[in-house]
Amino acid sequence: MTHTFDAIIIGAGIMGCSTAFQLAQRGLKVAVLEKSQIGAGGTGKSSAIIRQHYSNKLTARMALYSLRVFQNFEETVGGESGFIQTGFIALVAAKDHAGLEANVALQQSVGIKAEIISPEALQEIMPGLKTKDLVAAAWEPESGYADPYLTVTSFAQAARREGARIFQNTRVTAVRMAGGKVMGVNAGSERFDAPIVINTTGAWGAQVAKLAGVEAPIHACRVQVAFYRRPKGHEAAHPVVADFINAIYFRDETGALTLAGLIDPSEAEAVIDPDDYSEQLDSEFVLEAGERLVTRYPAMEQSQSAGGYASFYAITPDWHPIVDEVPAESGFFMCSGFSGHGFKLGPAVGHMMADLVTRESEPLFDHHLFRYSRFAEDDLVRGQYEYSIVG
Ligand SMILES: Cc1cc2nc3c(=O)[nH]c(=O)nc-3n(C[C@H](O)[C@H](O)[C@H](O)COP(=O)(O)OP(=O)(O)OC[C@H]3O[C@@H](n4cnc5c(N)ncnc54)[C@H](O)[C@@H]3O)c2cc1C
Repeated sequence: MTHTFDAIIIGAGIMGCSTAFQLAQRGLKVAVLEKSQIGAGGTGKSSAIIRQHYSNKLTARMALYSLRVFQNFEETVGGESGFIQTGFIALVAAKDHAGLEANVALQQSVGIKAEIISPEALQEIMPGLKTKDLVAAAWEPESGYADPYLTVTSFAQAARREGARIFQNTRVTAVRMAGGKVMGVNAGSERFDAPIVINTTGAWGAQVAKLAGVEAPIHACRVQVAFYRRPKGHEAAHPVVADFINAIYFRDETGALTLAGLIDPSEAEAVIDPDDYSEQLDSEFVLEAGERLVTRYPAMEQSQSAGGYASFYAITPDWHPIVDEVPAESGFFMCSGFSGHGFKLGPAVGHMMADLVTRESEPLFDHHLFRYSRFAEDDLVRGQYEYSIVG
């Protein structure tokens, strides 16, 4: 059977569903093809931290735009995202203090509510945090975290309301091209025709790009997240903390839990096949993350381990995505490789993709920074002041 659409989106994670919503809103007849279920990839297991601490103007603007969507989700998308405003704290070593100030100034310049605060002020915001080794911290009162599964299903519902169709359990097995132009895709024996095909398959991004003859430097790397039950007297929700000194991030989770993960570029070396890897949490990770957590938040010495899981990031050489038409004028679009920080940008990415695909002359977000050719040009995305993977 052949189905005909204006645009086919491969992959129903946050990027696919947000893009589908935006394109359908603009009147395009859209299909999303998902090999398993909505949110089954990296999105469903995301820590879903929504912070705006970025070291590039574009990503900072995208984070701010997206935050406004999360804050007004019911009106802008419909349904729920589970966004909880807890505030966000970034901690860096004294040697990176100038960089922290410069980044906060950059964030302020695009309208983000962020400030540098003293260790004493930090103590007031989050009593119990160890601040002795700090000169200052960055504070974003408006940030927090969302529920990634709720968010992606709400985007999918919103896309459907606008007329998009979502085909689950539908794995794309071929991308059909003729004369350098995309004609559609096959999912087993089913044919889907469209002059526009968008690859939002995250960690499968390279695999799917290959179907269109495109080599994309994206690989899946295994990452873990552990939960710790906070001890008595510490049940109240706490802000999100990105501690670049101890290379750990942690945030509140329902049920007086703290969710923790590492900020570790070497995670990129744990290359896996996203269809065949261990989703079980390693006991070494529980100890390692626990130790780093206690170093910054000593009360957690009395916490109890409460499980966790492994998932994967879709990593590119600079930890930024490929958002581009490849090759130019082919109708095949890449939108994959958001590494460990894509969730919070999802609403803005949908807008960016819709502008790109409809060839908007004045796009809200210029995709140039994320162009495919930057790897061959050796012009990777780097913030001026990066302590680690800030983006
Ligand atoms: C543990 C963890 C913690 C994270 N924490 C944060 C955070 O705190 N803040 C933040 O902003 N970001 C975070 N991220 C990153 C963020 O979650 C991802 O960048 C984002 O969710 C990626 O979304 P996506 O739509 O690109 O990919 P995915 O969600 O992986 O979606 C891709 C989809 O494509 C489908 N697919 C693949 N191949 C095919 C095919 N051939 N045919 C059809 N469908 C196919 C897959 O089944 C999948 O559903 C985290 C990620 C993880 C794993």
